[in-house]
Amino acid sequence: MSREVEVLISKEEIEKRVKELSREIESCFSSPFTVISLLNGGFIFTADLVRSFKVPVNIDFMRVKSYKGKSRGSLELLYPPELNLKDKKVLLVDDIFDSGESLNFAVNYLKSLGAKEVKTCVLLFKERKRELPLKPDFFGFKVPDFFVVGYGLDLNGMYRQIPYIGILKE
Ligand code: 5GP
Ligand code: MG
Repeated sequence: MSREVEVLISKEEIEKRVKELSREIESCFSSPFTVISLLNGGFIFTADLVRSFKVPVNIDFMRVKSYKGKSRGSLELLYPPELNLKDKKVLLVDDIFDSGESLNFAVNYLKSLGAKEVKTCVLLFKERKRELPLKPDFFGFKVPDFFVVGYGLDLNGMYRQIPYIGILKE
C-alpha cells in the first residue's frame, strides 16, 4: 500500500536549485570532468543535474550497498564504474548525505582507482550529528533528520518516481 506523502521540497524548488547547483559546480570545477552517479538513489538527481550542465561531461555509475543496522563501515561495492578514472577529475553525485558513510566509501574507492580529484554533490544534506569529518562539496538543501522519499529516494523501491521530496505520513 502506498502511503500519503507530505511535500517537504517542491518540484519547482528542486528544479530551481538544481540549475543553481549546476552553475556553481561548473564555476568551481574546470571542464572536462567525469560525473559518477551513485545508484540507486542518485539516478534522478544526476539525470537533471547533467542535463543542466553547459559543459560536456563523461557520465558513469557505481553502486554501493550498505547494510543498515549493522556496524559502521559495513559497505560493499556492487558495481564499479566502467570508465578509466586514472588522473581524472570526478564529481560524485548522490541523493542524500546521512551518516556520510556511503559517500566516504565511494570517494575512497574512486581515489584508489587513481582519480586526480574527487568532489561530491548531494541533493540533500541531513542535519544531524555524525562522526565523519567528510562534508559534501556541494549540496542542494539541508533537511531535518527525518526519513524522506521521492526524487530518487525510496522506501523498499517505492516512491522514487515522486517528483518532489516528501515525508511519509503515518
Ligand atoms: P549514508 O548514511 O551512508 O550517508 O546514507 C546511505 C544511503 O541511505 C543514502 O545514499 C540513501 O540512499 C539512504 N538514505 C539515507 N537517509 C535516507 C532517507 O531519509 N530516505 C531515504 N529514502 N533514503 C535514505
Ligand atoms: Mg543512496
